[in-house]
Amino acid sequence: MKDIKVCKFGGTSMATRESINRVIDIVSADDRRKFVIVSAPGKRNKSDIKVTDQLYKIVEEQKTTGNFKESFDALKERFVSLTKELGVDFDIISELDNLEKAIANGATASYAASRGEYLSAKLLSAKTGWTFIDAKDIVRFNDCGVFDPEYTNDTAKALLQNVKGRAVIPGFYGCGADGYVKTFSRGGSDVTGSIVAGAVKASLYENWTDVSGFLVADPRIIKDPEVIETITYRELRELAYMGASVLHEDAIFPVRKEGIPINIRN
Ligand code: ASP
Repeated sequence: MKDIKVCKFGGTSMATRESINRVIDIVSADDRRKFVIVSAPGKRNKSDIKVTDQLYKIVEEQKTTGNFKESFDALKERFVSLTKELGVDFDIISELDNLEKAIANGATASYAASRGEYLSAKLLSAKTGWTFIDAKDIVRFNDCGVFDPEYTNDTAKALLQNVKGRAVIPGFYGCGADGYVKTFSRGGSDVTGSIVAGAVKASLYENWTDVSGFLVADPRIIKDPEVIETITYRELRELAYMGASVLHEDAIFPVRKEGIPINIRN
């Protein structure tokens, strides 16, 4: 495929109607931005909770006390109002009812957590008309639960090359060898974006986040550290491995293999 950009948007970008509209503007501003990978809605303000954290909390409550109603209602309220604000024709209530039933029946934490990204992508697709492609049909883990890059790359290539127009894909999860949903570790939507970029041989992997690229120091400790303009894959991986939370450390391999540059955007 020729001159395609793959864009990944983090939780802050998917948190509110305003930020989602900004995502749509950014993507629409460049015809090459064809594949869009999204995280689950993140925090709307400092005291808010990320949808992913809320989902893990709900599963934990189900397991320990069996009572997750209050937390689930908060999640429901969040998605229902976001759907209303976006003004999309999407049956969020039945999606959430199914999720609630699944959790009551002992759904795995992986499955529950993955629904944050799933619903985020479904809403964006409903709002824009961009094709929804389920990550479960692309990303594959082997029977030891380890990410299977060959299998994934083959399926992703086959599936993505036929997409007409733009497509939106939920980040963070895929399919285990047992057919059940399995997630990457936290922050794994970066990995999904990189996999998609590698599979379609994108000209650029744009990672849109809430920080201004890689900094020379941790901004929580050092005031206004300088931005690193250019960095090698190796340096990037090392920094990610050492805890710079800009990009998931496993997001480097799929793009490095194809020599695709990563652009970290605020
Ligand atoms: N939503 C997941 C997390 O909070 C994955 C991601 O955002 O990349 O870890």
